[in-house]
Amino acid sequence: MIVKLPRHRPKRHFPDAKRIIVECELNECIHCDMTLVDRPPWHMRKTVQTINSAVFVAGRSKECVNTTCTHFGKHYYASGVLKYSALQNRNMNQAIALIHISILQRQIS
Ligand SMILES: [Zn+2]
Repeated sequence: MIVKLPRHRPKRHFPDAKRIIVECELNECIHCDMTLVDRPPWHMRKTVQTINSAVFVAGRSKECVNTTCTHFGKHYYASGVLKYSALQNRNMNQAIALIHISILQRQIS
């Protein structure tokens, strides 16, 4: 019997990657107007490749701690992390353009 092994992607580590920690942009709860409290853990993290190097991006959320609020304990996430992506990254778009140019040059020659 043939046992199919899972495909393995090479593990990539970037210990020296620049760290970008994005905080939730809200300061007050939208339901009770009380000041939100920072939550220490990241709600998400990712590594984005740029033309110079990889950058480490993490989002930090906030929480409503007002017990009388209808949304007590609700977490507010850092949506700013979404602007750090390969498709939104100007450097990455430049890298993709360079790859296309080199492919076209190879096809011409
Ligand atoms: Zn609240």
